[in-house]
Amino acid sequence: MSVLDRFRLDGETAVVTGGNRGIGYAIAEGLAEVGANVVVANRDAEAGRAAATDIAESTGAETLAVPADVTDEAAVEALVAETAAEFGGVDVLVNNAGTSSTGPAEEMAVEEFRRTLEVNTTGAFLCSKHAAREMKEGDGGSIINVSSMSAFMANYPQHQAGYQSSKAALEGMKYQLASEWAEYGIRVNNINPGYVETEMLPPEEMRPPQWREETLLDRLADPEEIAPLAVYLASEASSYVTGTSVLIDGGYLVR
Ligand code: NDP
Repeated sequence: MSVLDRFRLDGETAVVTGGNRGIGYAIAEGLAEVGANVVVANRDAEAGRAAATDIAESTGAETLAVPADVTDEAAVEALVAETAAEFGGVDVLVNNAGTSSTGPAEEMAVEEFRRTLEVNTTGAFLCSKHAAREMKEGDGGSIINVSSMSAFMANYPQHQAGYQSSKAALEGMKYQLASEWAEYGIRVNNINPGYVETEMLPPEEMRPPQWREETLLDRLADPEEIAPLAVYLASEASSYVTGTSVLIDGGYLVR
């Protein structure tokens, strides 16, 4: 098998939460480009359908949109069941759905803190739990959490206690799930992006100058720059990689 062949996902099925826009869309399209059937899972059904249609058109891959809130276990179970019914199983799960919250910790409502952890951490756990059950029945699989460089540092100058906590928790969860599920052939890894141009960020004129100034490459990332790493972690190209986190931050953490 050639090196490039190791990146192919022909006949495999990938579920991408939050695959309708931003980083999730770029990852979903990237996985489809290398041959995977792709399931887009997010809350807004219309946006999910539109993304699935666009990806099918741009790549020729089979796609499906399944509306699901990742914090709702019944919806997550149904997402996995619908994916398996349509494509015969789940080989790749990308836990990308996420939310952020900003505000001084001493004033942050506990509901806000909990909401952020609920989506970013509990949501990833629920999707992993149900996808892993399906992967166990098949030939194993690859689970990828879109964590953040925020898992390893304090965000500055913005205050984001809930977001940092939710992403740091994904690091511990990655170790544990990689350990528990290695015997089933399931690999679990994290992608840790720096600042990426998506709707999650405020408009350019409202961004703190430090975001760019502290990044060695002197710019934010495009979502398409995150997708190749997801293809690597999803495919045979990374067959000996599990329980790790890969920073993709333009050198932000270097200084
Ligand atoms: P966006 O805000 O563009 O996308 C967030 C996605 O998550 C949307 O597709 C949204 O769809 C989905 N989503 C949110 N809540 C839920 C939910 N409860 N259930 C299902 N889907 C949900 O952000 P990004 O593309 O920037 O973020 C993607 C991931 O990347 C996040 O985990 C984020 O933390 C992480 N990240 C982003 C960085 C950045 O600078 N942009 C940096 C580092 C990490 P819908 O609303 O329809 O449900």
